[in-house]
Amino acid sequence: MSGETRISGRARGVVHIVGAGPGAPDLLTLRAARLLERADIVFYDALVHPDTVALATRAEKIAVGKRCGKHSTAQKFINKRLVDAAARYAIVVRLKGGDPMLFGRAQEEIAALEAAGIRYEVVPGVTAALAAAAELGTSLTQRGVARSVAFATPRVAEGEPPSDWAHSIAAADAGAIYMGVGQALEISTALIAAGKRSTTPIAIVESASLTECRTVFSTLALLPRFASQFSGPAVILIGPQYRARAQLVETRVAAEDSASTLRQRARNTG
Ligand code: SAH
Repeated sequence: MSGETRISGRARGVVHIVGAGPGAPDLLTLRAARLLERADIVFYDALVHPDTVALATRAEKIAVGKRCGKHSTAQKFINKRLVDAAARYAIVVRLKGGDPMLFGRAQEEIAALEAAGIRYEVVPGVTAALAAAAELGTSLTQRGVARSVAFATPRVAEGEPPSDWAHSIAAADAGAIYMGVGQALEISTALIAAGKRSTTPIAIVESASLTECRTVFSTLALLPRFASQFSGPAVILIGPQYRARAQLVETRVAAEDSASTLRQRARNTG
């Protein structure tokens, strides 16, 4: 194929809202890979792997590197660019990290496309929590232990109504918290206030599916202490299925803490 497919007259292109998966380029669906190969223009998010973007060999590639927490003006600008692109190109791809329909703001883009009468299609992707579970080799649900999983984020954008995310996590057997590692103290406090025990096991998984992936097991009470070690994209998983490994860490931390208290006492009395 050569050259882009331009649209003329009143025809409109189709916008494909595509999940890029959690990071590893080979976790892309075949449908997504085929669309990228055929795309005329690709708008991609900050967390999408460069090798995934590179699959769009013939497309104009535009970074719309909006990291979570930025304003809705940035989102409105992206919506407008998608609408404009559909007037000029046959195959427009909007490439988003993980799955577009989970904490992906796909709905705002869909609303803008619908309002402009533009056809769209959503291609699902592997969401971060599933890649994290794969890294741990521990199922998100477990017979007899965890029969429900809540997906939640403590993050709310400016002007958004407050969210009761902590109670939904507390009500479920297990949970996956997105965009939360920077708010570990608030998360730990809110979940304990919502009824979770301070000894509830948790796991933090950073950069799931990528070679730089790091994981740690802990408890709700110790979450803030461990979360500060993570600065990349990370999910916090909560549930009884992490108990055995969390207990090992809890015991080690307690031993380290009492050793350091003893050293402190020895210094004070010495
Ligand atoms: N739609 C995406 C989520 C976007 S919100 C999805 O379905 O995965 C961005 C958040 O996703 C990050 O703050 C982090 O919590 C999580 N995340 C994305 N990629 C990740 C990865 N490779 N490993 C762990 N968490 C990840």
